[in-house]
Amino acid sequence: KVRVRFAPSPTGPLHIGGVRTALFNYLFAKKNGGDFILRIEDTDQNRYVDGAEEYIIQALNWCGIPFDEGPGKDGGFGPYRQSERQHLYKKYADELLQKGKAYYAFDTSEKLDFHRKDHEAKGKTFIYNWHNRLKLDNSLSLLPAEVEKRIDAGEDYVIRFLTPPDEKLHLKDIIRGDMEIDTNVLDDKVLFKSDGMPTYHLANIVDDHLMQITHVIRGEEWLPSLALHKQLYDAFEWKAPDFAHLPLIMKPVGKGKLSKRDGDKLGFPVFPLSWNESKGYRETGYFPEAVVNFLALLGWNPGTEQELFSLNQLVQSFSIERVNKSGARFDPEKTKWYNQQYLQEKSNSELAHLFQSVLTEKQIPAENWDDNFVENVVSLIKERATFVSDFWELSDYFFEAPISYNEKALRKQWKEDSPAIMEQLTSTLSTIKDFTSENVETDVKTWIAEQELSFGKVMPPLRLVIVGDMKGPHLFDIMALIGKEESITRIKKAIA
Ligand code: GLU
Repeated sequence: KVRVRFAPSPTGPLHIGGVRTALFNYLFAKKNGGDFILRIEDTDQNRYVDGAEEYIIQALNWCGIPFDEGPGKDGGFGPYRQSERQHLYKKYADELLQKGKAYYAFDTSEKLDFHRKDHEAKGKTFIYNWHNRLKLDNSLSLLPAEVEKRIDAGEDYVIRFLTPPDEKLHLKDIIRGDMEIDTNVLDDKVLFKSDGMPTYHLANIVDDHLMQITHVIRGEEWLPSLALHKQLYDAFEWKAPDFAHLPLIMKPVGKGKLSKRDGDKLGFPVFPLSWNESKGYRETGYFPEAVVNFLALLGWNPGTEQELFSLNQLVQSFSIERVNKSGARFDPEKTKWYNQQYLQEKSNSELAHLFQSVLTEKQIPAENWDDNFVENVVSLIKERATFVSDFWELSDYFFEAPISYNEKALRKQWKEDSPAIMEQLTSTLSTIKDFTSENVETDVKTWIAEQELSFGKVMPPLRLVIVGDMKGPHLFDIMALIGKEESITRIKKAIA
């Protein structure tokens, strides 16, 4: 059975890049009838941020991509927080020591810093590897008894992986194909520390193995770790999962990876939900379906022109082979387009319901609207909206008579004879019995013809007095909705 995991470290809010990783894992799992597991990688207590785990879980739930197993949802492979699995890892580090695949190292951080700086000064990079390790303070040049003595004496140590020199590693990635790596360029990464904590590398491999993960789908920034991870699986004589490294999400303009700063600069969210001062997609008014849809197309393509996909359709269409190798450029305008599309798909009653909380917040008197009225307003204006928060600006005149008129329009449309024409029009309007859009339209047009007036003399000033501006949908629809009395009142007020 396919089992994939999303394994974030709770070091802060989930970035949308992280959400995309989770989504691709989810889609892959569901497409293959498998399970999607959430594992919290919190072995680095220094980087732990309060609230980050809750944030991650809430974000996944909001997106509608819940996990099958994870914290609070045991599927027989728990616990799912590495901090609660801490007791598990030491024995695996010991196993590698016994097999001669790992070794103790006692170097102080001062000493390592010294080597790093020394190399830098010569324009080189210091690598803890075959070339340097014998000059350093580790167990490879010590007798076992000596090593034991130093550990017993409480000296700080780490356990490092022993990378064999002069080997060619063959790595496979579903998205990137085959790669070859020379082990001489790799460093002996730390696997375990004397504080009893494993590093990311060891915990990650041990857990993927114990949790029977079949496919590792993660961001490209982890590609450099693949060589070590492959060697760890080999060292333990475990079958490695298949790997797929997702392309980076790139800045809207220029080079490099999308960052929070791009969002701040260009005014778009980079987090699914708000975090401190940063507004999330949810709070900006995005629908989760729209977010999921645009994230799915960041780095994946269906091979057709189709752009709109429900989550179910994504599951059906998804294939990891169609994920691109190259970075995916983030386009904030496109994310808005997606939201606009999803907004059009929503029912008027659902949108009306959302809009009503705005009306309540704005303290629009309840006698100015009811459910039905709001639904009708929404049906007239929604095609111009990207977010529900655009509704008020598009429809305020339905709820409140204009208190002022657009000055430019007034100068252009309000002529000397306008008051007289408007005055006469009110008499016609008052005779209409059933004040529907069609009836008003027919009667007004007939009246215009009879009076031998032009449309230009009537319609623009009429819109101006009803709406306060030259904007809005079909004028007769507006008048029908606000009603006969209100329409006449607005005209009279304008000419009073
Ligand atoms: N804890 C790592 C992260 O924060 C997980 C990387 C992986 O999926 O192996 O992204």
